[in-house]
Amino acid sequence: MSQKYDTIIIGGGLSGLLCGYLLSKKGQKTLVLEQDMLLGGCLQSFKRHGQTFDTGFHYVGGLEEGQLLNLLFKYFHLMDLPWKKMDKHFDEIFIGEQHYSFVTGYDDFAKQMSAYFPNKANQFQQYVNILKDIHTSTIERLQTMQQADITSDQWFNTSAYDYLKSTFEDDHIVDVLAGTSLKMDLDKKMPLYVFAHINGSFIESAWRIIGGGMQVADSLANDIKKMGGEVLTKMPVAHLHFENGYIQYVQTENGEIFHADHIISSLHPQATFHLIDSENFARKTYIWRMNHLENSTGMFTANILLKDNAIPYQNRNLHIHQEGNLWQTRYGKDILVSFTTDKEDAVYTKNIDILTPMSWEDVAAFVGTHRNSRPEKYLQLKQNTADFLIDRAENYIPDLKEQVEQVYTSTPLTYQEYTSTPNGSAYGVKKQYDNVLTTFLTPKTAVKNLYLTGQSLNLHGILGTTITSLYTCAEILGADTIAEEVFGRQNPKKVLLIQ
Ligand SMILES: Cc1cc2nc3c(=O)[nH]c(=O)nc-3n(C[C@H](O)[C@H](O)[C@H](O)COP(=O)(O)OP(=O)(O)OC[C@H]3O[C@@H](n4cnc5c(N)ncnc54)[C@H](O)[C@@H]3O)c2cc1C
Repeated sequence: MSQKYDTIIIGGGLSGLLCGYLLSKKGQKTLVLEQDMLLGGCLQSFKRHGQTFDTGFHYVGGLEEGQLLNLLFKYFHLMDLPWKKMDKHFDEIFIGEQHYSFVTGYDDFAKQMSAYFPNKANQFQQYVNILKDIHTSTIERLQTMQQADITSDQWFNTSAYDYLKSTFEDDHIVDVLAGTSLKMDLDKKMPLYVFAHINGSFIESAWRIIGGGMQVADSLANDIKKMGGEVLTKMPVAHLHFENGYIQYVQTENGEIFHADHIISSLHPQATFHLIDSENFARKTYIWRMNHLENSTGMFTANILLKDNAIPYQNRNLHIHQEGNLWQTRYGKDILVSFTTDKEDAVYTKNIDILTPMSWEDVAAFVGTHRNSRPEKYLQLKQNTADFLIDRAENYIPDLKEQVEQVYTSTPLTYQEYTSTPNGSAYGVKKQYDNVLTTFLTPKTAVKNLYLTGQSLNLHGILGTTITSLYTCAEILGADTIAEEVFGRQNPKKVLLIQ
């Protein structure tokens, strides 16, 4: 029989590697199996012409000393990476002809917004108080690794849109506060908890990484190996063999078989359950429910290489909306421009990324075509979209078109092929305030020794995924063990709770 592990983790993206790190640190014999040649999943970077481009990392919130992600990343030994703090005005929001800045600091944010809309100052203070309350309750739960009671917690069962609409009674303000909609695939069903959590963490502090998000994945993988764990790439998992209520072994595409007491899958839940080689692993209603989860929209990304010393580096993002009514997915009308830097004190940038939502229907016809020989129609779609985005961005970055040297593009089809996420969904399962029981999945599954982790549970994004990894590991090692391990010595109450 092949070697037996305590835990096998399927997928070497952020969540899988975080679980691998934590379990290895606690002495478990762990194995991470990644299908691709490179680790990182959505955090993968690629190099062209000496420049590093990111596929799914642009900025992250909460890395300041004393903030939540800082504490978590210290635990995961990730704070030594080259993080770069963004400007106080970290996000610029353009809606039609109007312009607003998002600034860091809860009270400063309220003040800045009140300067734009003076008669709503009290409401803005109330809004940031809600962001703080939601953040505080997340931290309080994390200290003991308690799960949220999603059926009774008001933040989960209230829609962000309804809350903002009733608080501000002004459609334009509701749009302004939704200005960073692309980082959450916003719609009117998004629970206030998700909206507040994502916005709040960036208002606390906003950061880029110099040199590509993949450093996060590589650092975690190196540490896992140092702690005795194994991380294997080019190892697509093909089957999970189910028998007597348990996954008995994991089989990779090349036929290798691996045994473990516990299996964690960091894949999208639908992709996970398709790997199980039996239809009897759960009740039919459970399987139907998993197969009918609604996913967030995919993303089109143009990674643009620029001429030397041509476009000034901006230490902030531009969120450009052609017009109001942001609470829906709009191809081409909503775009995000993110500037990249390869050094701390860059004056110019060598590359920018421009993103816009793209629906699966736009690319579905090209499924089955090989990535090295796509049909002309697909190439044309990519070219047209990139041209259009550059055109739009030029209104905000003078002379942009003239300074473009090369454009690399990806679509939802690219993401589906690289991460196996159904329909290339950017952020996985959509959370809905009126359907919390179905859309907030727990790490436990219908199979006794199979657990889920990753962005489709609880919250997406770097911070959300990190939090979820802790909850997944708590199912295996126990909540008290994880709480003590990650927070025990750091007195999170003192460090983290917002004054
Ligand atoms: C375009 C885009 C931009 C983003 N920008 C930001 C941002 O600026 N800030 C932020 O905080 N978040 C951002 N995110 C979200 C963030 O990147 C993700 O939430 C997070 O990285 C997801 O990690 P994960 O481990 O859950 O999933 P993934 O990264 O998808 O990892 C899953 C892994 O499993 C592997 N896998 C799949 N099938 C198999 C198989 N059968 N066998 C073995 N391995 C398999 C995949 O190859 C992949 O490596 C962005 C996402 C996208 C798509």
